[in-house]
Amino acid sequence: MGATASNTAHENFDAVIIGAGFSGLYTLHRLRDDLGLKVRAFDAAEDVGGTWYWNRYPGARCDIESYWYSYSFDEDLQREWTWKEQFSDQPEILRYLNHVADRFDLRRDIQCNTRVNAAIFDEDIRRWKIETSDGKCVEAQFLISGLGNLSLPQEPNFPGLSDFTGEVYSTSRWPHEPVDFTDKRVAIVGTGASAIQAIPLIAEQAARLTVFQRTANYATPLQNRPIDPEESAAIKAKYPELRRYSRETYAGIPYELEFEIRPSVFADSEEDREQVFEERYAGGSFRLPYGSYLDVLTDLEANKFVSEFVRRKIRERVNDPKVADILTPTSHPYGAKRVPCETNYYETFNRDNVELIDAKKTPIIEATANGLRTQDREFEVDAIIMAIGFDAMSGPLMNIDVRGRGGQTIQDKWRAGPQTYLGFASHGFPNLFIITGPQSPSVWYNMPSAIEDHVDFATDLIAYMREHGLETCDPELDAERKWVVHTKEEADKTIVPAAESYYMGTNIPGKPRCCMVYVGGAPKYRGICADVVAQGYAGFAFKEEGTTDANSKRHTGVDAHQSASR
Ligand code: NAP
Repeated sequence: MGATASNTAHENFDAVIIGAGFSGLYTLHRLRDDLGLKVRAFDAAEDVGGTWYWNRYPGARCDIESYWYSYSFDEDLQREWTWKEQFSDQPEILRYLNHVADRFDLRRDIQCNTRVNAAIFDEDIRRWKIETSDGKCVEAQFLISGLGNLSLPQEPNFPGLSDFTGEVYSTSRWPHEPVDFTDKRVAIVGTGASAIQAIPLIAEQAARLTVFQRTANYATPLQNRPIDPEESAAIKAKYPELRRYSRETYAGIPYELEFEIRPSVFADSEEDREQVFEERYAGGSFRLPYGSYLDVLTDLEANKFVSEFVRRKIRERVNDPKVADILTPTSHPYGAKRVPCETNYYETFNRDNVELIDAKKTPIIEATANGLRTQDREFEVDAIIMAIGFDAMSGPLMNIDVRGRGGQTIQDKWRAGPQTYLGFASHGFPNLFIITGPQSPSVWYNMPSAIEDHVDFATDLIAYMREHGLETCDPELDAERKWVVHTKEEADKTIVPAAESYYMGTNIPGKPRCCMVYVGGAPKYRGICADVVAQGYAGFAFKEEGTTDANSKRHTGVDAHQSASR
């Protein structure tokens, strides 16, 4: 923290929120409008929207149905907003988030164009001092991270990139103005969910598109379509009931209302299994991984059936068997990496103007003035698009100078992997609440629901502290250690550790390998959180107002492990 900033009088808040996306907006609403706190949200972007502000690449859209991928906290809001498509595109989702900001009069407490550079917990006054990119420092009792899980882009580290004389784009930092690739030769690096959405649209426009694929992915159809007024009305009529039900489902999407999720691939005949896979594949979105058989994501042997099914679909859709071979994943099981949803992705490789390069066999070694060079060839292009993903989950918070008790940095604390309690707080960082933090369900759950659950948990916790005259809240080290173990145990019951992925942290060179997501399912996680609350916030240690370390009173409930190890 700069000496000048720390010596001057600072503006004081009850809570500071980092980010004004889905998390930040709802946190601001709850803390300010329901608890009456003085709150300020900061966002580095020019406007609200978070993920949906930044990720403007062609084809960007959500891949869970919009009537689920949206806020549920306000009945009037969900009734008055009408989604036009099953899976809304980025401009529509950004319009929605702007509508929410206006409707709840949130903008007056959001400072955009302002990055939080540092947050230091001052133990003498038991408040956070937050330093921002405008050179100011503010103080707050509570610091809430609404940074998101996929907000810190991975830096492209190809040697020579600055020598490239053409245009360089990143899917996660796309320009606000439309980019016209007509008559241009374009290269795209990466074949994750972002690239898989962008590639078919860019291929339609560009003179030539070269796709550099390192690991083949299992993409399955999105099946977007307009929502007709009757369907929309039917959903709205039953919204509260449907939302309640959704939260009791594994991923927060109520597939059980459409069909039975069958217990095991081994219990069905080959013919029945094939029919189940076909129906879920044709149904689109995440119906195949989350809505077919319970054991496809937990048993590698069971998973072989669905992996082979998707491989067969890829081969059926790609004309050239050599190209199909490169596009067919063999290095990991289906669903162990995040499943991308696609529209015409595989058919795009049947076009004459699209070339697929196996960047595992012939890795990109450098950028040149004219393009990209692999081990055996130079590709001359006019534009390079980086779609290489994010330093996910733990990356965004670790990118800020966050220091807790004893000056410990979050980078030190999480050096060997995130250490959290419930994926919500980290011992030694009092009153820091991380919305959908690492080791919480986050991206393994419908994100807006995961966000609402965590924001509600934080709001209730702050209300409880105010009611009981408690000034700080810090997870117990023991509870945290048990949570880290429990998160790993849950991951080990699934196929997730069988792939290198951002779930496991391994997409970033040097990042420790551990599961960053709580994969026990939303109902289990929600049950654990409810138990923690019922037991007087078990696993959290509180200090009463005005107490010092010497006379602090513990205000903990029973051992959280009883809940965490269920
Ligand atoms: P990603 O899934 O991490 O994919 C990054 C891609 O870049 C991978 O194919 C990766 O290959 C490749 N790559 C990275 N470094 C490379 C290098 N040096 N050389 C060649 N290739 C390289 O990132 P993403 O596509 O941006 O998606 C991230 C997440 O954002 C998604 O999983 C999803 O959760 C979210 N998302 C959601 C939607 C939606 O529809 N709602 C859309 C887009 C994104 P390897 O696999 O070999 O590492």
